[in-house]
Amino acid sequence: MPLSITFHGAARMVTGSKHLLDLPDGKRLLLDCGMFQGEGPASDALNRRFGFDPKSIDALVLSHAHIDHSGLIPRLVAEGYRGPIYATPATRDLCEILLADSAFIQENDFRYDAKRAKKQGKAMEEVGPLYTTGDVDTAMELFRLVPYDKPVEVLPGVTLTYIDAGHILGSASVHLTVASREGVRRITFSGDVGRYVDRLLPDPKPFPQADVIICESTYGDRDHKEASASAQELLGHVQRVCVEQQGRLIIPAFSVGRTQEILYQLNHLFNEGRLPRVPVFVDSPLSINATGIYRKFSNLLQADIREELEKDPDLFGFPGVEFIREASRSKELNTRKGGSITIAASGMMDAGRIRHHLFHGLRDARNAVLVVGFCGPGTFGERLLQRPETIHMYGEEVPVKAAILTMESYSAHADRNELLRWISCQDPSLVKQVFLVHGADHAMEGLRGLYAEKGFRKIELPRQGQRFEV
Ligand SMILES: [Zn+2]
Repeated sequence: MPLSITFHGAARMVTGSKHLLDLPDGKRLLLDCGMFQGEGPASDALNRRFGFDPKSIDALVLSHAHIDHSGLIPRLVAEGYRGPIYATPATRDLCEILLADSAFIQENDFRYDAKRAKKQGKAMEEVGPLYTTGDVDTAMELFRLVPYDKPVEVLPGVTLTYIDAGHILGSASVHLTVASREGVRRITFSGDVGRYVDRLLPDPKPFPQADVIICESTYGDRDHKEASASAQELLGHVQRVCVEQQGRLIIPAFSVGRTQEILYQLNHLFNEGRLPRVPVFVDSPLSINATGIYRKFSNLLQADIREELEKDPDLFGFPGVEFIREASRSKELNTRKGGSITIAASGMMDAGRIRHHLFHGLRDARNAVLVVGFCGPGTFGERLLQRPETIHMYGEEVPVKAAILTMESYSAHADRNELLRWISCQDPSLVKQVFLVHGADHAMEGLRGLYAEKGFRKIELPRQGQRFEV
């Protein structure tokens, strides 16, 4: 049986990362098990149909903890998967809180939908939530920890090495060697590639020569702004919105990664005595838990940050920061007077406490929303970035009077030059196939052109469900 890869997600889109390897001996290895997000009603249908039998999978190898890479693990388990789930130790810890949070959302959304259907006299299909907290508990027992740079046999003849991808804490590129009668095939899956200018995480590391490369392409046709300017830019926004206008600076941020990066930067400005005295609210239990995991794995952060830790043992907290767990306290922020900073999830603004901050905050011209991350197509964040006059929320047309600001330099994804740098460790003449995933069409086309210029051949842009012999 020839070695093949079938793309079951993040194929010509950015979410649902799921790539299935059919190995020469008949075993099956799944790379990532991500949830589809922001595809509207199509998301639920995509999330409920894997396109393969979960019980037929022999091993799952996870690149990192983001939900669009890990979010369907509990569903896989609910449908009978009981094999090992390989992950780095930090990825495992982050999955524990992210998947529990996701299950909570699934259960809540389902209850809400069922109630609404009943009210409207509609028959609600008895489908149940996508998964439950019980499925998460079962999934967590299946995790097997693999540190960076240590080759481990995950199936007979298949060796896995994790290489730091510098994208979020614990994130990795996956390098597999598959031995068969035909010889050894080396397959690298980028996962999500981070920045070479990240303030917290080390640079993405070079990987061993591969025959086949599956590469993300989120920003395959774009350059990010210089990151060094971002502290100054952030300070400028705080000064203008919170001090001069006495408004709220509302920052939608992923609980993992972006929140810690902003907190680190604010802490740094505080230590330098440059941060105005403005209350900072981190309004997300999940972000608080994630920050705890960043503290626990501070050995994975950049060397100069580990040095900084000796002077300031808490890089994510300073006087003036309040970490909010209670929902009642979260709601109080909406009636609070004076300038403040609120950091809340979710980053793409489709869920979480950020929703009520936007609902109340968007109407006031003194306020501003600072978008610091990628907002996928079809998300609320993407609509808001088009700066409409009004935006639909909770059955109301909410006037958008607040300024919509962006700081793209906070992106956790490599831009096109960084993706070139990431792949520059390879001899293109030895790479037989490159598959571009996790990007919009224009981004993948852009990256295909760049990689082709560098001498890479057979660069494919797979479609959902498409299978390739490699
Ligand atoms: Zn990611």
